[in-house]
Amino acid sequence: MTCLICGEPAVAIDADDDYLERSCPKCGHYRITGAALVLMKAHGWHFDVALVRKWIEEHQDSGMIPNIDSHQAARLINV
Ligand SMILES: [Zn+2]
Repeated sequence: MTCLICGEPAVAIDADDDYLERSCPKCGHYRITGAALVLMKAHGWHFDVALVRKWIEEHQDSGMIPNIDSHQAARLINV
């Protein structure tokens, strides 16, 4: 599997109809919703890797896996 943020090899932890979960050595452990991926693809958006890594790091300690939904994805793109 590859990381959905940086494209490097990453471990697929879990997935269901609503989200994909990855653990990337560089980006960290996160979830991304299927809706966010569809939105990204529809708009031809790409993540700002540095911005996403910073966001994941900031949300890693809350006890919850950082979850990138479509609202959050729109704020983490490279424009
Ligand atoms: Zn990554």
